[in-house]
Amino acid sequence: MGRLEGKIAVITGANSGIGLAAAKRFAAEGAHVYITGRRQEELEQAAAELGPDVTAVQGDVTKAADLDHLFETVRTRHGRIDILFSNAGTGALEPLGQITEAGFDQTFGLNVRGTVFTVQKALPLMQEGGSIILTGSTTGVMGTPAFSIYSATKAAVRNLARSWALDLKGTGIRVNVLSPGATRTPGLQNVADAAGAATMYEALLAQTPAGRIAEPEDVAAVALFLASDDSRVMTGSEIFADGGMAQV
Ligand code: NAP
Repeated sequence: MGRLEGKIAVITGANSGIGLAAAKRFAAEGAHVYITGRRQEELEQAAAELGPDVTAVQGDVTKAADLDHLFETVRTRHGRIDILFSNAGTGALEPLGQITEAGFDQTFGLNVRGTVFTVQKALPLMQEGGSIILTGSTTGVMGTPAFSIYSATKAAVRNLARSWALDLKGTGIRVNVLSPGATRTPGLQNVADAAGAATMYEALLAQTPAGRIAEPEDVAAVALFLASDDSRVMTGSEIFADGGMAQV
């Protein structure tokens, strides 16, 4: 029997990277998984790869109407959510002096505003035993050159979980933050392309005691722990899946 047998999971940003790996793992452990993303073609490819235990709902988590459509679909088909993994996120390199209003709005709009309304709109479908996972980052507790705005969004996400754990007191719903370090995904590759890939991967490796860049499946394994009842005593916490990067 799988560790998520019979559970209903929603993962935002699951046509790529960490979200896709988590969707695969959750489905393999017995959950029915709703996956989202803006790019329809990638979403369809992911759904085809993942098989019958997955429902793909195209949408942008920064748009209220898309979130309403997503959760209305879940409500109609399954009536509840047991696991919400708010994973969609983005970041771009903008050193102080070159921070743009558009970049700021896009990063805060997705990583913070998107997270807030994803969780708030999902909440009516959640009940006792529910697990909410927010995606933080090692950058939320570190300084990272040219990455201040992204890093600030992840610090904000981490703090949302502290207050939401209190807001959720008495509901039996828990909320925790999963903070990856450098993880080999198309998202990281985009940042690396802008920074000069070889130099960036070298620098990340040098900073990581584990001596390797994580694979999305490594992070998905930690997401599984937070999604499952094995982490039932945890709320308001942050777990780092970072090869030790932010721990030393
Ligand atoms: P990725 O490969 O770029 O995947 C990002 C996912 O989010 C895609 O499925 C993308 O699909 C979706 N997405 C982006 N904007 C969206 C929007 N407005 N609405 C809905 N979905 C949206 O990135 P990843 O590396 O797996 O990142 C996943 C999470 O981990 C992010 O929160 C990121 O900040 C965090 N993280 C990553 C690393 C790392 O090294 N990779 C480290 C720390 C934290 P569409 O483009 O089709 O919308």
